This record gives sequence, structure tokens and C-alpha cells, in this order.
Amino acid sequence: MIITRFAPSPTGALHLGHAHSALFAHQEARRAGGRFLLRIEDIDPTRCRPEFTRAILTDLAWLGLDWEEPVRIQSEHFDDYRTALARLDEAGLLYPCFCTRKDIAREIEGAGHAPHGPDGAVYPGTCRALSASERAERKAAGETYALRLDMAEAVRRSGDLHWRDRKAGIVTARPDLFGDVVLARKDSPASYHLAVTVDDALQGVTLVTRGEDLFDATHIHRILQWQLRLATPDYAHHPLLVDASGRRYAKRDRALTLGALRAAGKTVDEVRGMARMD
Ligand code: GLU
Repeated sequence: MIITRFAPSPTGALHLGHAHSALFAHQEARRAGGRFLLRIEDIDPTRCRPEFTRAILTDLAWLGLDWEEPVRIQSEHFDDYRTALARLDEAGLLYPCFCTRKDIAREIEGAGHAPHGPDGAVYPGTCRALSASERAERKAAGETYALRLDMAEAVRRSGDLHWRDRKAGIVTARPDLFGDVVLARKDSPASYHLAVTVDDALQGVTLVTRGEDLFDATHIHRILQWQLRLATPDYAHHPLLVDASGRRYAKRDRALTLGALRAAGKTVDEVRGMARMD
């Protein structure tokens, strides 16, 4: 049974690029007689807003998509992410990181060289070296901290990992390229990487469909699956929809939000055509 999902973040209105992604996931499920799920990825309290969530549901229904209830709202499931973090912590794979962005930039500058991963400069590991008593003292003093994965140790334990991608075939995971990624942020008890990995497994997703821009994130998700003993779904990373000049759609394209197109009198069929799915 194929189970797909669309997992938007309610940080703005859906645009044609989102419509493409949602229709892609829906079509993959329906074509296989499978199930299509919806998940609202609203773990970032600084950027997500409930009115965007409401607008997303309205837009998707207008597009003619149907999904199974209940919709999974990530902000209602922080306990699931805390449980996953506790497991990683018990396994000795997490450490608190007190660094600010400035601290990290200074450390990298001082080191004179900065390994770069797919997400930019790799965290130099400053807080990995702190002793247990230093950690306890800084926590007791009320310093805020993120939780990072000790990637070298995680990779040492997991050995080679792979996943299956519709287009790329069998991919060898390279989470090592990202360094010690953040799994819980100072301002949110879960990062995207942790929440998405836990939820895809909890929701029983068998085919993760999403844009190519998230291909690299799968390296991290794969090692988290291994560490948390979660099933590995298949992946289909689709090309991003681009406009006539080859630019990908983004939040700045106000006129091309689904709401704006609807208000301008476009029909569902026209919009689905613009999203190049029908
Ligand atoms: N919430 C993510 C986004 O809107 C997508 C996550 C995913 O499909 O894995 O970019």
C-alpha cells in the first residue's frame, strides 16, 4: 500500500510550487490505490501562523484534493519529538550546544577554515568538547541551548546506510557531510529534521514525495531512522516548478498564491494546469 503525504509549513500562503508538490503526492497515492495524508509542519513558533494553516486547508480543498482525517498538526505532538530526543540522548548521541550564531561565526573565523556541507558551514563542534560539569553549570545558570547530534559517533555506529529514490536509485547516505546537526532548537523543542523523520514513520508513510531542494535533507533523515529504529520509506524528489523565466516560485510571488489566483477568477482547472499536473 502506497501512503504519501503533503507536509506544508504554515509560514505563508501556498503558491503554485506548493500546488505542484501537493498534486504530485496526491496523484502518486491515488494512482496506486493508496492513501494520501496531510501534515502541517508548524513547529517553528516564530514563523508559523494559524491563519496560514486555515488558508492552506481551504486552498487544498479548492484544488480538489481529498486527504484522510485527522490532519497531523506537529505543534500538537511535541511529546513524540521529546520521546525521540530522549532515546537519542540515552544512546549518548546528543549534546547541548550553547553557541549563538555569532559564537559559531567567530569560531569558524578563528579556525581559518570551515568545512562546508550541503547546508553551509559545518558546526565546528565547540560544545561537543564541554565536560559534563561545564554543561551542568551552564544549564543551571539558565543559559539556553540547542541539542545537537554527535554525527561522527552516529555514523560510526550505523555504518553505511542507503535509501531508495525514484529518480536517483539507491543512494548512499552521507550525513557526515552535515556535521552535528541541530535536533532541538533553543526556541523550539524539535527541528525540522527530527519532526519530519518521526512523523513520516508514525504516520506510516511509505513514499515521501517532496521537492528536489530537500533531497540532501534525506541524508540526515536516513541516519535518524537508523538511530531511532524507524522504517525507511521510499523517496521521490520532484523537480521544482519554475516560472517562464526559469525561477522557482517563492513566497515573494504574491500574485501567484492560490488565493490570489482564485480571487482573480482563475478556475481550478486553470490553476491545476499552471501547476502542470493535468
Ligand atoms: N515542511 C516542509 C516545507 O514546507 C516540507 C517537508 C517535507 O516534505 O519533508 O518545505
